[in-house]
Amino acid sequence: MANLPLLSVIIPVYNEEEGLQALFDRVYPALDALHLSYELIFINDGSRDRSGALLRQQFERRPEVTRVILLNGNYGQHMAIMAGFEQSRGERIVTLDADLQNPPEEIGKLLQAMDAGHDYVGTIRMQRQDSTWRRWASRLMNRLRERMTRIHMTDQGCMLRAYDRRIIRAISSCREVNTFIPALAYTFSANPVEIQVKHEERAAGESKYSIYSLVRLNFDLITGFSVVPLQTFSLLGMVLSVLSGLFVVYLFVRRWMLGPEAEGVFTLFAITFFLISILLFGIGLLGEYVGRIYQQVRDRPRFLIQAILEAPDASDSN
Ligand code: UDP
Ligand code: MG
Repeated sequence: MANLPLLSVIIPVYNEEEGLQALFDRVYPALDALHLSYELIFINDGSRDRSGALLRQQFERRPEVTRVILLNGNYGQHMAIMAGFEQSRGERIVTLDADLQNPPEEIGKLLQAMDAGHDYVGTIRMQRQDSTWRRWASRLMNRLRERMTRIHMTDQGCMLRAYDRRIIRAISSCREVNTFIPALAYTFSANPVEIQVKHEERAAGESKYSIYSLVRLNFDLITGFSVVPLQTFSLLGMVLSVLSGLFVVYLFVRRWMLGPEAEGVFTLFAITFFLISILLFGIGLLGEYVGRIYQQVRDRPRFLIQAILEAPDASDSN
């Protein structure tokens, strides 16, 4: 068996051609400075720009510590990281964004926290460098998640995190299709901790998350880890049906005592529309869960690897 590295660093890459060279220039020296054996795993998440070619070049420059996984399409950041997890061999695994928003120099700090016995090191971004609306939306989602799930994270969005091999093994055994890795890892950790890390502006390019994919991601987080929305909904349904039952009784009594009356029709409309809107939201919410079940039931492969670039002795240890 070849020597297994101590540390696996996993970086998902999606259309990052402008920033990749800057990333290489910082991440390799940062890791070399740690003086431990490491492997750097890049996952090309179906980029449509030159990212794949750049990764290939970089692999040829540092083949002993670099591995490149080329996915055959765009499966999203979390599935790309999943593919990296499955291939990783290190005792400790660190995830990182490709845009240099998470400074690679902070990895040492994460490892120190692991030395102290923690099997999961979460992070809180100091002075987060993102647009105001993103920060505001994150705060809201963090609060919502805190209430609806058992997952305690101060800052769910930061992907600079470290995991023990045991947690990665548990994560890889989950067959979930849409998931949120930091939350999943948290549920498996025995001794989690959070530390503060620096945060920088994106080195180049723009965020790969549209509003739509951010909304999707947060639905995955909430519906993937909590059935509270479904339960609140049935509670709401119960309360409302009792109230509207009473209302119907009241209307009948009025009809019986005062005879037919046309006034108040609009109030009735208002109430009806309100009930209909709740109904529609409820159906949508059901759809979220049913959709998840459907994807799970099909049991398709979660991602397809097109090729893996790695040094010859890297694969026989797997
Ligand atoms: N990413 C990915 N697949 C996607 C979207 C993003 O692999 O479909 C990667 C992206 O290349 C980056 C990381 O995930 O390394 C975080 O993306 P981004 O910086 O755009 O997110 P933000 O910082 O805006 O939350
Ligand atoms: Mg980013």
